[in-house]
Amino acid sequence: MTASRTRSAAAAASVHEHGWVTESVHATSAGRVRYVRCAGCDAWRVDADAAAAIPPTAVSRVIA
Ligand SMILES: [Zn+2]
Repeated sequence: MTASRTRSAAAAASVHEHGWVTESVHATSAGRVRYVRCAGCDAWRVDADAAAAIPPTAVSRVIA
C-alpha cells in the first residue's frame, strides 16, 4: 500500500463509519486473512481472523 492510499483511507474514515463487506478470504500459515471492502466508499482493508491474533504457544524451551 502506498502512502497516498493510506492517507485517502484515513480521510474517508473521518467522513463516515465504514461498513465492511468481506470480498475474499485466504488461508495462510498464520491463520485466515480476510480482504474487506467498504460498501459506502470502496475503501479496502485486510483483516486477520481471531485465530491468527492469538499469540503462538511455545512447543520447545528457549534455545540460546
Ligand atoms: Zn467507507
